[in-house]
Amino acid sequence: MDAATASRGPALGPLELTGRARSHVVELADPRCVLHREVVGPWLALRAAAARAGIDLVPGSSFRDFEQQLRIWNAKFRGERALLDPSGTPLDASALDEAGRVEAILHWSALPGASRHHWGTEIDVIDAAALPSGQRPALVPAEYAAGGIFARLGTWLDACAGEFGFYRPYDIYRGGVQPEPWHLSYAPVARRAEALLTPGLLAEALAGADMAGREAVLARLGDIHARYVRAVASPAEAVLVAARRISPPASSS
Ligand SMILES: [Zn+2]
Repeated sequence: MDAATASRGPALGPLELTGRARSHVVELADPRCVLHREVVGPWLALRAAAARAGIDLVPGSSFRDFEQQLRIWNAKFRGERALLDPSGTPLDASALDEAGRVEAILHWSALPGASRHHWGTEIDVIDAAALPSGQRPALVPAEYAAGGIFARLGTWLDACAGEFGFYRPYDIYRGGVQPEPWHLSYAPVARRAEALLTPGLLAEALAGADMAGREAVLARLGDIHARYVRAVASPAEAVLVAARRISPPASSS
């Protein structure tokens, strides 16, 4: 009933934007993932095109909710889970003050409420056909660069992801998130979400959470928002045009 209305207006409400609701996402069984309802069609089309090129596009992480992100955050803050510097070297959480721990966590993990994965528009992908059996992907940029096991996937995504409305928000380092060549974003919906996720909305999401280091986060929330939410690549106009062609707004299924 309200699906058609929702796909016309702002795609995500405050709880959906911050991962505190699941009303915007649907679960797919094959391949297993959880996506915003507007992303399902484009994702399956992208996957089918990849298959024709001999690539088995498999989703690692797709939708993640606020609670999952909060568990990761708290475990890292308390030193129960590895804290790494930007080069991947382990840090001693107990040797850092609260601000230092916040900074260190943000190198590799999003602030709860501020993960693009909350939107259901983001998918981390690998090429299962290129992965030697028994090997797990490390999810490091080198795997997707020339000579890496997913180099062919990286090149194919450069050439083809845009035709299906997908782009890579973490293409290069822009002062916040490290480059993530595996991270795809569905442009039309993600762009709307990006505009709606304000520092005020984030503060509201954190207010009710049992989060370690919250005061240190709130003290610099504007800076965190600028570096980790806003400092991302923008989709090319051609990507948005392609998305409208593939999945016209407020129509069909
Ligand atoms: Zn990701």
